[in-house]
Amino acid sequence: MDTFDAAVVGAGPAGITAALYLVRSGRSVILFEKLTPGGQVLLTDAMENYPGFPKGIKGWELADAFNAHLEGLAVTRSTADVTGIAGQAGAFELATSAGPVGAKTVVVASGARHRQLGLEGEDRLRGRGVSYCAICDGNFFRGLPVAVVGGGNSALEESLYLSKIVSKLYLVHRRDEFRGAGVYQDRIRQCPNVELVLSSTVESLNGDPDLKSVTVKSRKDGSTRELAVDGLFVFVGTLPNAEFVPEACARDKGGFLVTDVEMRTSVPGIFAAGDVRSKLCRQVVTAAGDGATAAQAANLLLEELHA
Ligand SMILES: Cc1cc2nc3c(=O)[nH]c(=O)nc-3n(C[C@H](O)[C@H](O)[C@H](O)COP(=O)(O)OP(=O)(O)OC[C@H]3O[C@@H](n4cnc5c(N)ncnc54)[C@H](O)[C@@H]3O)c2cc1C
Repeated sequence: MDTFDAAVVGAGPAGITAALYLVRSGRSVILFEKLTPGGQVLLTDAMENYPGFPKGIKGWELADAFNAHLEGLAVTRSTADVTGIAGQAGAFELATSAGPVGAKTVVVASGARHRQLGLEGEDRLRGRGVSYCAICDGNFFRGLPVAVVGGGNSALEESLYLSKIVSKLYLVHRRDEFRGAGVYQDRIRQCPNVELVLSSTVESLNGDPDLKSVTVKSRKDGSTRELAVDGLFVFVGTLPNAEFVPEACARDKGGFLVTDVEMRTSVPGIFAAGDVRSKLCRQVVTAAGDGATAAQAANLLLEELHA
């Protein structure tokens, strides 16, 4: 079995940055990516908020640039799916679809996926009206009507952000009351272009190839209503890609890995970086920062282990 100083799981912004910093510190690194390097960056058309690109950059271009940064460096790449981590600092064994791999430290940078509504056409309309990120995509709907679905802090915060951009915003929530903080609720109720559609669920997404409207259904009397919107922003939660991480690593109530400021999880030798960890702001710039910090922390531990 091959053994590396560090195994990095996931080649999104966090994992690529972690691998870059580790290999530049002279460490042997294996970087696992079961899909395509770049992670969620590939899911967005244009990235307008990554510093250094004032005119914006296509998601695929940024992903390519991240990946190109590793070219010529001695990072071992694997397309295997990591399915488990066992052992302890200095002697981990990763179970992968290509067989076991040894690593003295592990950086978990496997990202997160948005919880979907589970409606027909949702995958097809993703990027064609259906979005899961207001900061990322809100500007594409400037001056247009949109709907937001959800009732927690994310839905309220993102609605406040979107209300300044769009012409009209329907905030659809399945309950009578929001779960989000009162301060956000007060501010939402004061927005003149926000209409609350409470005790209602989104029943269907209409439009081909682009979203044209959504049908909502009242949970009180079963009546339906069609909202003509160009965008639907879904904030019904996110899910961490952390199923393969040992249960001993502490999670928050959403299942995200809890770390300290140096990206250490509660299991020595296992670090977490990017969207998979419990944090406030899930963006490319913070994922890359986490990756650098995790790499430095892993490097320090390797020094302590005299590895
Ligand atoms: C539609 C959309 C638009 C966005 N727009 C913006 C934007 O404009 N600006 C911005 O800053 N952020 C944006 N984001 C958020 C940003 O993409 C994420 O915050 C960032 O990609 C997180 O990076 P990461 O490395 O933590 O995880 P990810 O990018 O999710 O990468 C994780 C990688 O790990 C791999 N992986 C997972 N599990 C395993 C495993 N078991 N074995 C092997 N590989 C595994 C995955 O295949 C994936 O490639 C957007 C997100 C979406 C979905």
